[in-house]
Amino acid sequence: MGKFVDRDYLWLRETPQKSPRWRPWAPVALVPVAAALAWYLTTPTDAPPADEATAPTVARVHVQPVEPAHAMPVNFSRAFDTARARPPARSVQLAFAPAASLTHGPNQPNDAKPDWQRVTIASGDTLSLAFARHGLSYMDSLRIAHMPHLGHYFTRGLQAGDVLEVKADDTGRVQAIRYTVDALHHLSVRRSDDGFTATLAERSAEHRQTSVSGAIRHSFYRDALAAGLTDRQAASLHDIFARDVDFARDIQPGDRFIAVYDTLYDKQKQIGTGPIAAAALINNGQVIRAVRYTDDNGHSEYYRPNGRPMRPAFVRAPVQYTRISSPFNLNRMHPILHRIRRHEGTDYAAPEGAPIHATGDGRIIFRGRRGGYGNVVIIRHNRHITMRFAHMSRFARGLHVGSRVREGQTIGYVGMTGLATGPHVHYEFRVDGRPRNPQTVPLPGAPPLQGHQLAAFKARDAALIAKLDDMTDNARVHMASAADSP
Ligand SMILES: [Zn+2]
Repeated sequence: MGKFVDRDYLWLRETPQKSPRWRPWAPVALVPVAAALAWYLTTPTDAPPADEATAPTVARVHVQPVEPAHAMPVNFSRAFDTARARPPARSVQLAFAPAASLTHGPNQPNDAKPDWQRVTIASGDTLSLAFARHGLSYMDSLRIAHMPHLGHYFTRGLQAGDVLEVKADDTGRVQAIRYTVDALHHLSVRRSDDGFTATLAERSAEHRQTSVSGAIRHSFYRDALAAGLTDRQAASLHDIFARDVDFARDIQPGDRFIAVYDTLYDKQKQIGTGPIAAAALINNGQVIRAVRYTDDNGHSEYYRPNGRPMRPAFVRAPVQYTRISSPFNLNRMHPILHRIRRHEGTDYAAPEGAPIHATGDGRIIFRGRRGGYGNVVIIRHNRHITMRFAHMSRFARGLHVGSRVREGQTIGYVGMTGLATGPHVHYEFRVDGRPRNPQTVPLPGAPPLQGHQLAAFKARDAALIAKLDDMTDNARVHMASAADSP
């Protein structure tokens, strides 16, 4: 198993309060860095996809095995995976069909002329940033992102690796966009008299229910892929059960997983797979079941059979605070150090000794003193999200590094240890190591289903739950007989 690099630790070590000491070997060490930088700057980053397979592998270094598509914010509009045998680069995966062949019509260009260019969305991109790299109009990016109908596909709907085909004139004025959203959906945008108009073409497909069951032999990911799940489905399965099970520590050989999902066919040809509709995990003899439910607004979540969400909601603030003494600001003057220092969290002023609560479930990965942050607790929620709480007067008793905590649990008490002008909690919310504004970041999780939603869930998903139970029983028989055999 690969060693998990926790960028939060790196970050903590990188922000000491004292000035760095001169190291005589530093100029020598900088030579390869400068060479790499020069190489990076002179290498075109938007090479056509055909070249991607042969590009140097250093160009794509990922710390985590999951593609960034699984990072927050979760994209709910993208439900269907394109059918494929996992090729190396995602941009290649999405180029499964020339867009024009899907939707021929008077509005569609007949062939890809030289003025069509491929714009690949990079991690952290907005449409404007991606357009800027290709010399495309900034104003057009805004008009497209703000289209009242379907514009959201170009804001929160965009994911790293997505490929837009853009037709533009020499000045960067955009004429049209073709965008294959997923196996079933294709979006076309055309310039019109007063801006842009978009049309979403949906391919019809036959849905067939598929179920897979597998046992843990090597590692969860390997075994999930071996059982026939796609990367995305394996990652989704991981996320579904991440609150109940720590996949790095709790999963044992012999544990089993079950997943039920739709496979999409067009004239007997498999064109894609749907999201996981229901899943079960048998961990240490305990069965955990999850069923996907889509509400009236089209928002999907996974729930337990009793209607409680698999991922309960986060809360916004860790204390009952009196006021926000300093907001999140990546460009502020530090009150004590008197120089520009990013404020990577929100400061909640509260009385000394007031309890600080975990804002979400997780595991304590750091608990101790850290320079200007004083007494710090860091909680990892999942592979993407960490929360950190600084300036504590003292820690809650009975907790240590490795302890699991639940949302709402007291983890320490308000103080002013480290560099602080008054008692407050400095609270950070990080996604993939990057600070996000705790007051505005979209928080994952869902409230329990109630009333007519709960009734609809139970009526609609009874068959899926029965199927899970059936498969779980079979899996148990399988486990028992495996244990009996010599
Ligand atoms: Zn602060």
